Amino acid sequence: MLEIMNLSKKYGKTLAVDGVGFTVPDGRIGILLGPNGAGKSTVIKSIAGLLRYQGNIRIQGIDSRETEAKKCFAYVPEIPNMYEALTVREHIEFVRRAYAADITEEEIRQLLEKFEMEDKQDKLGNELSKGMMQKVSICCALAIKPKVILLDEPMVGLDPAAIKELKEVVLELRSQGCTVLISTHMLEMVKELWDVTFVMDKGHILGTYVKEDLANEDLEELFFKVTGQEEQKETVEQEAER
Ligand code: ATP
Repeated sequence: MLEIMNLSKKYGKTLAVDGVGFTVPDGRIGILLGPNGAGKSTVIKSIAGLLRYQGNIRIQGIDSRETEAKKCFAYVPEIPNMYEALTVREHIEFVRRAYAADITEEEIRQLLEKFEMEDKQDKLGNELSKGMMQKVSICCALAIKPKVILLDEPMVGLDPAAIKELKEVVLELRSQGCTVLISTHMLEMVKELWDVTFVMDKGHILGTYVKEDLANEDLEELFFKVTGQEEQKETVEQEAER
């Protein structure tokens, strides 16, 4: 379970996140959805412990700043960070040792195979394309067998095969009871994945939508309605029709 309580973050005088609170229950996929600049990455980076913030964040009931909480959660950043002098395989080995993860050699092989990286395992971090870096980042996150995983715009930069694979992996994680939070502004990419969606704009959560409760309502329509972007959407559609 992932709990965010009264989270606020200021960059100088800019209040990027203002008293945000939401919960993703065990074995559920939460989507943090919002337009550019809504504050999504700030929320994700706060959860990941990369920013100072006000408020409380709990991972599996433990304060996110505690080592016990850090041990069971993984973070896939929007822009992957590679160690230039480590190979793909060494990145996974590094994470495996740092977290004392119980992933086996065979499981690592399967993971690399899943993301078509088996033949790239001896490549160095600085020899990889952006999409390959993203795949390594995802493999490293999965290698610790997390209880909670955060993915910031994970589909950006991936090819269609990797997107398909990632979606399958996310659903598999859910079936294993893992809590997933995905931050994105691309609703299309997460349509078949989500259980609960938090619509965010200008540093606030404007609406929380549970899939089972949205019988006939379209999430996309709701998104445009609550973010006040209906007119922009109509203009884009009218222009596309011309
Ligand atoms: P995007 O979809 O474009 O990545 P986002 O929803 O992730 O956007 P954030 O990156 O969290 O949004 O930004 C929220 C607000 O905080 C924006 O107004 C942004 O300009 C501001 N901001 C983000 N990072 C910084 C920073 N390091 N310094 C100052 N302001 C920042």
